[in-house]
Amino acid sequence: MTADALPHFTHYIDGQDVPPATGSYFETQNPFSGEAWAMVARGDAADVDRAVKAAHKAFESGPWSEMSATRRGEILFRLSELLAQNAAALAEVEMRDNGKLAAEVTSQVRYVADYFRYYAGLADKVESHVIPTDKKGVTCFTRYEAKGVVAIITPWNSPLTLTSWKLAPALAAGCTAVIKPSEFTSPSAVLFARLFKEAGFPDGVVNVVTGLGAEAGEPLVTHPLVAHVGFTGGELAGQKIYEAAARGLKTVTLELGGKSPNIVFDDADLDQAVKGVVSGIFAAAGQTCIAGSRLLVQASIHDAFVERLIDFVKDARLGDPADPQTRIGPIATRPQFDKILGYLDIARAEGARCVLGGRARPDLGAGWFVEPTIFTGVNNGMRIAQEEVFGPVLSVIPFEDEADAIRIGNDVQYGLAAGVWTQSLHRAMLMSSKLRAGTVWINNYRATSFTTPFGGYKRSGIGRESGVEAIKEYLETKSVWIST
Ligand code: NAD
Repeated sequence: MTADALPHFTHYIDGQDVPPATGSYFETQNPFSGEAWAMVARGDAADVDRAVKAAHKAFESGPWSEMSATRRGEILFRLSELLAQNAAALAEVEMRDNGKLAAEVTSQVRYVADYFRYYAGLADKVESHVIPTDKKGVTCFTRYEAKGVVAIITPWNSPLTLTSWKLAPALAAGCTAVIKPSEFTSPSAVLFARLFKEAGFPDGVVNVVTGLGAEAGEPLVTHPLVAHVGFTGGELAGQKIYEAAARGLKTVTLELGGKSPNIVFDDADLDQAVKGVVSGIFAAAGQTCIAGSRLLVQASIHDAFVERLIDFVKDARLGDPADPQTRIGPIATRPQFDKILGYLDIARAEGARCVLGGRARPDLGAGWFVEPTIFTGVNNGMRIAQEEVFGPVLSVIPFEDEADAIRIGNDVQYGLAAGVWTQSLHRAMLMSSKLRAGTVWINNYRATSFTTPFGGYKRSGIGRESGVEAIKEYLETKSVWIST
């Protein structure tokens, strides 16, 4: 099909579909077929400026700025209903764009609706305090006020989920937003933004500018009317954004990469642990920030556990993400596919032993498939143990005792998540206190909730998303002193 015949997605600014100022569009591809399925507006600084100004106007004047917190909550609630009604259509677009399995992407989009419902309820529960002071004849109280225009910049692996993690608390706080989705998965954000009008949001409160990081992302971060940047993505882009935000003295929340340990002790329920380790690394073909990509297994059970893992995974079906029989879908983007294959070579060159998978699967069609892969003989100093692969590649590292597991578990630059499998309460408590990670799962892996703070230690990020805490990222605190 020629590019002209493909569906075209524009920006969404001030309540309308807006074509790019330059008239330029780029392809978005389906990772299962390897073919372009839509064209996306290639935004630049002029489009960003228009969107930020619309968001700023909506923040400063008009119905949004006048709206009570209760009314904000009501329209957030209406949006959550619309998201639930449109979940299937949105999920279909996300699946087509990033190749995630239909069942997983559908449940993720339904969860986005739950997420907005949670923050709908929270909008009018941000309470101020009267503060006793050492001064006579004055009353002091706090006000929590929305920061202003929030820039939301997201990656391709869970587009709407990671957008809602920022947007729902930002709107509940009273902010307005400009979203810049990943250039690999932009259409769902445009379809999503159109729902806001129907939900009753005033024009300009939520805007989307699509495009590349350097052309649309950078001018968004540096725009003087943007107060806060909420970013999920890779470490390199995270650093650049942090530096650019620092120059403008803007606040940031950064959700970055991970190299999370999944730690299996010899006293664990091994049936449960095998399932948890497998879903921890092979769900979404390993393309999750929380992937348990380092399996730390107690030396006494190493061989038996690896054998169980291989048995559990070896027949997993790779294929069409829309097919309910498929267990592992394609890699979402061509550059990511090439990067994973590069790491398979690196691991072999470092001396790791490939005991499962380890190859691309061109026989499955033009899509970007990589077999679920397990390396043993890995030591924690190898690149395969230190660097984020973001693919279906598990590195197995033996350990002797609790102290050894803690040392190896923490010996990476990241600190996003960790899993621990043990039936000992003592071990569970010890490990959960000693592991330097924003989330520790004991006898489960990958559980997240809109109620529960999520974020990283060390190079995995700054700030927290989800739960009551997240709304504070979008609020300023003002102290008011009244002489009486
Ligand atoms: P990426 O960093 O390449 O891109 C993310 C977004 O940033 C895209 O929208 C991109 O256009 C934009 N961008 C890139 N450079 C920019 C710049 N200089 N200024 C402004 N915007 C810029 O990441 P990706 O490849 O899309 O996603 C994979 C990464 O995301 C992985 O490292 C993964 O760990 C991370 N991730 C983290 C979490 C988390 O919550 N911690 C969740 C999912 C993914």
